[in-house]
Amino acid sequence: MTITVKVEEAGFRPASRIASVGVSKILQIGAKAALMKREGLPVIILGAGEPDFDTPDHIKQAAKAAIDAGETKYTALDGSPALKQAISAKFARENGVDYAVDEITVGTGAKQILFNAFMATIDAGDEVIIPTPYWTSYSDIVEVCGGTSVLVPCSAEAGFRLQAEQLEKAITSKTRWVLLNSPSNPSGAAYSAADYQPLIEVLLRHPHVWLMVDDMYEHIIYDGFDFVTPAALEPRLKSRTLTINGVSKAYAMTGWRIGYAGGPKALIKAMAVIQSQATSCPCSVSQAAAITALNGPQDFLKDRQESFKRRRDLVVSRLNAITGLDCRTPEGAFYTFSGCAGVLNKVTPKGKTLLSDADFTDYLLEEAHVAVVPGSAFGLSPFFRISYATSEAELIQALDRIEKACADLK
Ligand code: PMP
Repeated sequence: MTITVKVEEAGFRPASRIASVGVSKILQIGAKAALMKREGLPVIILGAGEPDFDTPDHIKQAAKAAIDAGETKYTALDGSPALKQAISAKFARENGVDYAVDEITVGTGAKQILFNAFMATIDAGDEVIIPTPYWTSYSDIVEVCGGTSVLVPCSAEAGFRLQAEQLEKAITSKTRWVLLNSPSNPSGAAYSAADYQPLIEVLLRHPHVWLMVDDMYEHIIYDGFDFVTPAALEPRLKSRTLTINGVSKAYAMTGWRIGYAGGPKALIKAMAVIQSQATSCPCSVSQAAAITALNGPQDFLKDRQESFKRRRDLVVSRLNAITGLDCRTPEGAFYTFSGCAGVLNKVTPKGKTLLSDADFTDYLLEEAHVAVVPGSAFGLSPFFRISYATSEAELIQALDRIEKACADLK
């Protein structure tokens, strides 16, 4: 799943902390697909983890105004007071959870928030429970920080959701965190209040275990699913919960690099220590844009959600009509995570037997010119992830090709 960093040039010795960490399979596939495209092959890339919409104009205007007003200097270390205020208001308004401004931190993307949190809390040998399938960066960040990822497989039958018994079994005296992501990248699965409740009960019995939740896809949710975040559900757990969110996915602001979190003051302070030695503050202009994103109109989110829903329905129904594939309908995000057990051990027209999901996705890339990511990259096989954050026309073309590629297997 990863490329190990090796001594590639005389005199270079990588640090041992990156020995088992590398460039993710997603990036490897993306690079291969991009190369094939440059060579003139008609490759369709369904690998991207970002909305295909543009950042809304009123947010761009706020950034331009900030530049003109001279907001071009360092800001407060972990977020300007105005942005923290906007985040505090967002948590209260949308999630029904109270975070005071000194319980809020802002970083250069939610990825940096995750990094700050683990760097600030993990000692060698500390364990982080991560349900699979999981966003690949989780375990790599834990490992860079010297911790141990405890991966717990969550089946499609269980809705790709961690079950209370699994959590109970995975907890040891070394467990520091449990990391939950709802809606999930890559499965699109989300936890309802009823899904969270048994997990919360387990956590209440283990006071040394903290809960990290990644709510990045909160606003990309379908069929009236009632999004909730655990800190709002259980006040007794809030004092050891870090609630992570950001503007990348909701507001199509991946390049602006603003992520944030609410959590107990002591943790937030410790995270600021890490941030102070990694960067001096998140980008001042992006912070101004994020304030407008959070405080400004929210009505366009609904239109975007509907557009994603149409594409989700198209992809799920087409995949389920293909013999050998089996796709659960996701509650949110812009990914499908489809089973492909039914195509394994079949033989391609070129005589290759497909032994794994990675063989299948290699076959799709090489023969059908469609780039998707194997479940093995997310810690659960045999599956593959499609990102449907692309045009319906392109999706239809890609699905036609996947259908033909599957029909060609013997
Ligand atoms: N969490 C999840 C589940 C994600 O998919 C991503 C982006 N792929 C992030 C966090 C990071 O988002 P950002 O750093 O852009 O805020």
